[in-house]
Amino acid sequence: MGIPLLQTARIGAYLLKQHLSGRERYPLVLMLEPLFRCNLACAGCGKIDYPNEILNQRLSYDECMEAIEECGAPVVSIAGGEPLLHKEMPQIVRGFLAKKKFVILCTNALLLAKKIDDYKPDPSFTWSIHLDGNQAMHDKSVCQRGVYDKAVEAIKLAKSRGFQVSINCTLFNDADPAETAAFFDDMKALGLDGITVSPGYAYERAPDQQHFLNRTKTKELFRGILARGRGGRAWPFTQSRMFLNFLAGNEAYKCTPWGNPTRTVFGWQKPCYLLGEGYAKTFRELMDDTEWDKYGVGNYEKCADCMVHSGFEASAVRHMVQNPLKALAVSVRGIRTEGPMAADIPLDNQRPAEYVFSSHVSRKLAEIRGRKAGAGKPGAEETLAAE
Ligand code: SF4
Repeated sequence: MGIPLLQTARIGAYLLKQHLSGRERYPLVLMLEPLFRCNLACAGCGKIDYPNEILNQRLSYDECMEAIEECGAPVVSIAGGEPLLHKEMPQIVRGFLAKKKFVILCTNALLLAKKIDDYKPDPSFTWSIHLDGNQAMHDKSVCQRGVYDKAVEAIKLAKSRGFQVSINCTLFNDADPAETAAFFDDMKALGLDGITVSPGYAYERAPDQQHFLNRTKTKELFRGILARGRGGRAWPFTQSRMFLNFLAGNEAYKCTPWGNPTRTVFGWQKPCYLLGEGYAKTFRELMDDTEWDKYGVGNYEKCADCMVHSGFEASAVRHMVQNPLKALAVSVRGIRTEGPMAADIPLDNQRPAEYVFSSHVSRKLAEIRGRKAGAGKPGAEETLAAE
């Protein structure tokens, strides 16, 4: 079982409360990106292509605490950039734990050995190590040799210190089902507490645009992988079985972008973790003012191939809450990897992509420069100097 009982019970109670109250849109996981700066430059990453002035920005401890208070999600996933470059990260993690949140700290693990003494094991705290496959697959994905070995060493170290450790694995169109299944076997043998897997999103700013999966290839790939692991039951996935069932083409969900609201140094990102089409100052403004129907598969060109966990896990969880017996059957029998697939959402009426990245960057740069020119307020360089 990949999801600890305490987590299942607390999140289950939260979901039931939302469901019974008839709330149409509610958050499940706060996706927090307190910085964009990273110590790697991966081929499929669409998060770090910013000027230095923006890469030098950080969300402060207070801003991180305000974000969780505003949205009220039971889980926080801290990503970036590389969160371990943020000097306040231990304090931020402790702050979320004190608020009884489940904290997932995503890292490429390069700094984990150096920073591990700043953290304490806690049933509500999990290290999520970025690993996109075996040594050859991962080192290729992160464009640097030796990173896989360091990540595996970090997993062993964190496990030996009593931490919960999972991996987050993003797959691209060169992933081989047999190789990926063997990789999951290796990870299970390491004693990992969980595996999170997702197809990559085709970020428009990613350096490598050739290796993103389309929907058909995603479903075929996941059928090929899951068939080699007893319909997914062989591995400790932290995701709902219904999400994996969706990846295998057995369900056709609309996304639930508000399920994983995203707070970055730009503000609350509209509409989701993957697309930065605008920014809201508050969580309430994000929920009330985002034109949700403009996004999603079939509505918007940039969404056409998206099957990413941050967009669809909450859809799967919602489906599970509404259809508990079906979810139980999938869990017990394993995910079907043969036979017809669910008809997908047609793309005939999707609106064309809008390209707004440059305007958001220009606005943010103007804001940073205006602040630095202002009455002695601390700027990015001062923040960095303290690190
Ligand atoms: S399909 Fe949904 S989650 Fe995916 S990019 Fe579009 S809005 Fe975001």
